[in-house]
Amino acid sequence: MKILVTGGAGYIGSHTCILLLEAGHTLVVIDNLSNSKALSLSRVQEITGQSLVFVQADIRDETAMFELMKSHAIEAVIHFAGLKAVGESSQIPVNYYDNNVGGTLALLKAMQKAEVYNMIFSSSATVYGDPQTVPITEDFPLTATNPYGWSKLMVEQILSDLQASDPQWSVTLLRYFNPVGAHPSGLIGEDPNGIPNNLLPYIAQVAIGRLEKLSVFGDDYPTPDGTGVRDYIHVMDLAKGHLAALERNTNRAGRHVYNLGTGQGYSVLEMREAFAKACQREIPYVVSERRPGDIAECWADPAWAQQDLDWSAELGLEEMTTDAWRWQSRFPNGFEE
Ligand code: NAD
Ligand code: UDP
Repeated sequence: MKILVTGGAGYIGSHTCILLLEAGHTLVVIDNLSNSKALSLSRVQEITGQSLVFVQADIRDETAMFELMKSHAIEAVIHFAGLKAVGESSQIPVNYYDNNVGGTLALLKAMQKAEVYNMIFSSSATVYGDPQTVPITEDFPLTATNPYGWSKLMVEQILSDLQASDPQWSVTLLRYFNPVGAHPSGLIGEDPNGIPNNLLPYIAQVAIGRLEKLSVFGDDYPTPDGTGVRDYIHVMDLAKGHLAALERNTNRAGRHVYNLGTGQGYSVLEMREAFAKACQREIPYVVSERRPGDIAECWADPAWAQQDLDWSAELGLEEMTTDAWRWQSRFPNGFEE
């Protein structure tokens, strides 16, 4: 298929591009490089030995999106582009709504005009807010606690309304849990700007010596060791979930929703220990205050994705930490040349 991948130079997009190329798809990647480097896509081509078309553009540019879709006879859009820093979203909410919601609206208008009716959207487990119980199934109540989360929920709503109004659309909402790890080559991986907000990249930077020690945000949660529990999923498993969704839902009109998680939760201290084992180094830490807005535990019930997509995560904690460490140790400064 001919696929437009928005935000394809970023962390999850670049890993997914590898599997899409390996599966024989033709890719047009658009990214404004606001949170990534084009080098990631050169590496994708190096890994696969195949080429893709990269265009530096913004999803908010409806005309550019339309022209690209038309000139490349695009059949489906995998939509990763968006801003994703939860804390920052409360400081500059207008930018987040403009980029994530406004950007998606522009993209959808271009799709309608180009008669492309197949969309796979990167949503997030954040749309479940603070769930009453775990594991989380797709029919849990939805809410948000910050502008980033609201932007994801708003886009889910927009896509659902669009699909209801025009049943020829196939809309797939993929709710990711906590993506970690890197391609096993160590050539691409997560490359956060500045000090990482997320746990695994933070630990990786402590291990490589860029940061002094990990702050564990609270050890008084009602969890087995008192620290927060999350469903970490290897980015290659997540990438595979996109292929499964694309295969299953192309030519199957409707609104399809899946949790992409492993179904297994790990605590902050378990993640620290697993990473220390993978890199054979000490990861010093201190316990600090809880981070505002954090919840105690969050993990997926992935049964529906298993049943409907025949997809399940296969890689465990060892692969997640070993692959993240291979990337971090090979390129301590990420894509910075
Ligand atoms: P990322 O920042 O690495 O990738 C997003 C890409 O989109 C970046 O390359 C960025 O430059 C690009 N982009 C942003 N705004 C754009 C715009 N207006 N036009 C064109 N390109 C634009 O993030 P990621 O971790 O790869 O996340 C991909 C998607 O998955 C995002 O929508 C994110 O919200 C969602 N998601 C991520 C996580 C996570 O923990 N990484 C969890 C759940 C959902
Ligand atoms: N966390 C932590 N120290 C950090 C970053 C995160 O203790 O420097 C904890 C956080 O409180 C949560 C878990 O690690 O319990 C995962 O946090 P992350 O930001 O990676 O993901 P999210 O909160 O979005 O699930």
